[in-house]
Amino acid sequence: MSGADGAGTADAPGAGRVVLVVNSGSSSLKYQLVDVSAGGPLASGLVERIGAGDGRATHTDAAGGAFREEVSVADHHAAFAWMLQAFAEHGPSLEEHAPVAVGHRVVQGGARFFEPTVITELVRINIDELSVLAPLHNPANLAGIVAAERAFPSVPHVAVFDTAFHQTMPPEAYLYALDRDLAERHRIRRYGFHGTSHRYVSRAAAAFLGRPVEELKLIVLHLGNGASACAVDGGRSVETSMGMTPLEGLAMGTRSGDLDPAVVLHLQRRAGLGVDEVDDLLNKRSGMLGLGGHGDMRDLTEAATSGDERARVALEVYAHRIRSYVGAYAAQLGRVDAIVFTAGVGENSADVRVTALSGLEGFGVEVDAARNAERSGEARRISTDASRTAVLVVPTNEELEIARQTVEVVAG
Ligand code: ADP
Repeated sequence: MSGADGAGTADAPGAGRVVLVVNSGSSSLKYQLVDVSAGGPLASGLVERIGAGDGRATHTDAAGGAFREEVSVADHHAAFAWMLQAFAEHGPSLEEHAPVAVGHRVVQGGARFFEPTVITELVRINIDELSVLAPLHNPANLAGIVAAERAFPSVPHVAVFDTAFHQTMPPEAYLYALDRDLAERHRIRRYGFHGTSHRYVSRAAAAFLGRPVEELKLIVLHLGNGASACAVDGGRSVETSMGMTPLEGLAMGTRSGDLDPAVVLHLQRRAGLGVDEVDDLLNKRSGMLGLGGHGDMRDLTEAATSGDERARVALEVYAHRIRSYVGAYAAQLGRVDAIVFTAGVGENSADVRVTALSGLEGFGVEVDAARNAERSGEARRISTDASRTAVLVVPTNEELEIARQTVEVVAG
């Protein structure tokens, strides 16, 4: 498609500051055309069920008009072709808003990638090689990169890693107490995920508080389908709850989070489960789904409200685990200026927020019931004026963060 790969002209709107952000899954392609100067999307879209023969695709333009289509999309190349067609037919024009670069979300950057990186042949090889640590994610991210490079051949492509923000963790936080040589050989350590969100939210929280992030000690709670806590000291991640994979830490929608590792051995020895079955159980059938029958927090909350006892207990476990991490990170940080909730559950569930922080009044954490109950898409304070630690809700925006980091690298 002509013009899609051209660089922006000097007088085009938002010239030099438009980035196409790509989040490629094994059977999906999410994209957003972001104007970094305006701090918002010009268009976004989602192609689903790639390779399945009965795909669906949605493209939303700047005015919020959505175009939907049932399509058969064979692979990621076909998904990009659909996207280019959608831009051509429904706008905005990629000639007028030519991206200066494409920013790719990449899940696992290992210990090698600690900042956004312009993608070269060597970088592609490294991302592929890191699939050993993220077999579900990195190959899918790479498929998106290869297809995007073909669709946009004359602009730089930048990889923004979910793990990069956590590369500042000190060894005492990232090392497991395992045989050191064996762990090093197999690259077993904590990497942490959701880094792009934790970085964005910690800076947005500092802006909300009107203080430099360098001065602040924050606990960020990213509670989505996956969930993680992060201790952010002076703008740097010093500890996070996800580990070598996104399975560790908080109880999640369908993931178990923390578990005695001997449970895995017991499941294999006594319950007769194979390796893949345990993998499936812990990642897809545990967490709130396993405990309370619903992996989606809205459904779980509704069930609990209707008197479902298991759902109620599942919610208690969810909140209890968060509270434990808040306590642990407060001890590691020594002082907490703010606890920040973000992502689907964190931004929307007043119940989860208040339950997770209940009983912490003695530690200077006081949630204000009325402020907590207010609904808003803006960053806001939900603690009382007397609360020593501020409690905030800050909407995350991973696409904008990826676009900003991409522009920074490209401007170099
Ligand atoms: P992902 O990790 O896939 O990006 P999100 O950040 O969108 O996920 O979070 C999805 C979760 O947010 C789901 O469990 C959903 O039920 C929950 N959620 C969204 N809106 C609400 C709400 N109003 N109340 C409670 N939970 C909500």
